[in-house]
Amino acid sequence: GKVLGRNCVCPFQTEDMQDIEDRTVMGGLLREAVQAGELMLQYQPQFSASDMRLSGFESLLRWSSPLLGDVAPDRFIPIAEGLGLIREIGDWVIREACRQIRLWLDAGYTGFTIAVNVSPQQLRRAGLHRAVADALQEFRVPGHMLEIELTESSVLENLVRVKDELRRLKALGTLLTLDDFGTGHSSLAYLKHFAWDKLKIDQSFVRGLPHSVLDASVSRAILTLGRDLGLRVAAEGVETTSQADFLRDLGCDELQGYLMGQPAPADAAQVHFKAIRA
Ligand code: C2E
Ligand code: CA
Ligand code: CA
Ligand code: CA
Repeated sequence: GKVLGRNCVCPFQTEDMQDIEDRTVMGGLLREAVQAGELMLQYQPQFSASDMRLSGFESLLRWSSPLLGDVAPDRFIPIAEGLGLIREIGDWVIREACRQIRLWLDAGYTGFTIAVNVSPQQLRRAGLHRAVADALQEFRVPGHMLEIELTESSVLENLVRVKDELRRLKALGTLLTLDDFGTGHSSLAYLKHFAWDKLKIDQSFVRGLPHSVLDASVSRAILTLGRDLGLRVAAEGVETTSQADFLRDLGCDELQGYLMGQPAPADAAQVHFKAIRA
């Protein structure tokens, strides 16, 4: 897909040139987006599988550009990373999530977490824990209410630096989740290096449940591994009751997906605090 020129005929441009232009234009607009207040977080509910009580939310970044319209995070986050803008954006995400935790605490809601996605580059530069510490302090948020979702690619490089950064995050009380688990190259090696709290089964393995033999055995293996290591296991991308039932029967701790709730702005997401499901 293209940002610009979707409806324009550009006979002399190759796909690559168009891509480069898109990225340049998008990058320029993205530079202003934080200041201009064009970013927002949506919140997708997560439920405890055994009783379907709300356990928390994953925050998902949204960009509404006056010029480009709504741009999906899969499109603009890689560009922000490429241009070195992800740290500023990432700091904003952390602060915004903490602000929302405080708003919900003040509204009387308790016993929930908000997860933020942290990109590899945020972790690569020392000081992530400082941004987290500042936000927790500013909004008087207990560390255990904030969950940090990392992918294997984040921890792939610079093991020593990353280890140190994660240790400092743990010291603040935040929960550490290994996202998209199973999609990386050497998942198992990363398990032993860091003090994870939770593994998140990637939605690509949830999609084929319960019928796909491969998806079922991968999910079963991750759940066994998680149980043996004393980690919580969450599944994302749960869209059907048969997927939810399968995962629950195998001992999955948390479920997240369109079946239970879409990502939504805070006001709308808040209804899940009261929702009671059988
Ligand atoms: P992710 O962290 O793996 O997030 C899960 C994605 O699956 C989200 O897409 C979510 O809306 C979508 N999803 C949730 N439930 C279902 C379902 O039942 N079915 C299907 N098909 N999809 C479902 P989204 O919001 O478009 O985000 C895409 C990716 O962008 C995220 O993948 C994450 O890698 C990245 N991202 C989003 N927000 C942030 C952020 O604040 N910071 C960073 N660094 N990355 C972010
Ligand atoms: Ca995530
Ligand atoms: Ca994920
Ligand atoms: Ca993903």
